[in-house]
Amino acid sequence: MYQVNDNYQKLPGSYLFSTIGKKVNAFTEANPEKSIIRLGIGDVTQPLAPAIIEALHKAVDEMANAETFRGYAPDLGYEFLRSAIAKNDYEARGCNITADEIFVSDGAKSDSGNIQEIFSVNNKIAVCDPVYPVYVDSNAMAGRTGTYDMAAEKWSNVIYMPCTRENNFVPEFPKETPDIIYLCLPNNPTGTTVTKAQLQEWVDYANKVGAVIIYDGAYEAYISEEDVAHSIYECEGAKTCAIELKSFSKNAGFTGVRLGYAVVPKELKCGEVSLHSMWARRHGTKFNGAPYIVQRAGEAVYSEAGKAQLKEQVAYYMKNAATIKNGLQDAGYEVYGGVNAPYIWLKTPEKMTSWEFFDYLLENANVVGTPGSGFGPSGEGYFRLTAFGSYENTVAALERIKAL
Ligand SMILES: *Cc1c(COP(=O)(O)O)cnc(C)c1O
Repeated sequence: MYQVNDNYQKLPGSYLFSTIGKKVNAFTEANPEKSIIRLGIGDVTQPLAPAIIEALHKAVDEMANAETFRGYAPDLGYEFLRSAIAKNDYEARGCNITADEIFVSDGAKSDSGNIQEIFSVNNKIAVCDPVYPVYVDSNAMAGRTGTYDMAAEKWSNVIYMPCTRENNFVPEFPKETPDIIYLCLPNNPTGTTVTKAQLQEWVDYANKVGAVIIYDGAYEAYISEEDVAHSIYECEGAKTCAIELKSFSKNAGFTGVRLGYAVVPKELKCGEVSLHSMWARRHGTKFNGAPYIVQRAGEAVYSEAGKAQLKEQVAYYMKNAATIKNGLQDAGYEVYGGVNAPYIWLKTPEKMTSWEFFDYLLENANVVGTPGSGFGPSGEGYFRLTAFGSYENTVAALERIKAL
């Protein structure tokens, strides 16, 4: 009789978005005349930029001719895209990352879930709390996280680094030394980030204790402040301790198109073992490359027209973020994030729990957000609103919240 991977049985159910869905459905059934505004979504809403659509069409036409048709893409990505990434995301920022250190993928969710498999099951991971759930769940599936304590909402073998207003949402070095450290900056869900100097401290720490940092830079395009690093490789010594994951989803609206990349520097070694070689081997064995059409679309992200159009798209969402942030502040809320990320993280008023505030907002303002407790125990007492809606809806939602 076969056996299943028991680690899956240890996973707690993910009730956050299904509970939100149920509550919203129950409310709309009871109040069919009320119009709901959703500021809970973590998905983009603006269409793909014209430069990207043009590149997609052109690549589709190439597929219709024997002379220009492309089959399997190179495992690690087409040279045209890897070069464009190296030049624009790294060289332009003074980071010494070459095209052959870039591994093109179908997105940062896959990469952040898959990357753990090149590490021993004996490694101990450290994550921020609250956190993007993929890091912990993928390690749980691999059997690295121990047992789950329902009451504490924590795994026995995971190091949690609380990020709250008390520490300005900057994780502190944990008491117990981790082997693998996950950092997502700017952060989902808190919308906050750290300065380049603070990131440098984490790089120094990882090099000192012999840990590897998995750096999720999905929200890099939203950075507006000068002293925030756009890549972890802006920090000295990062090439010997960090893997960076990037996505085309939030900067270019590729959530339904699917494209991302991982940077694994050649200098990143565990003793004599090259992580670059291991990830190349993993990619070559288990992945047959992102689609040619999509990689051409990715290339267009770095064209002059693409860059200009995407700058506008990001600005559109950040105008929403400012609208939410300023509106909430005017209404007397304690608000974080929204400056270097499309997320606003607010402290719930009057000691309401995250779910109490969810109900309050749904019933009285007909606005839907995401309870902070859904991202980890330290998210209790916080609430996330996203800037990914339309400007009109965002303004209307804030009018309603201000009128409460
Ligand atoms: C949205 C998001 C991603 C992007 O994932 P894709 O698979 O590239 O769409 C990665 N990490 C975080 C934290 C995110 O919020």
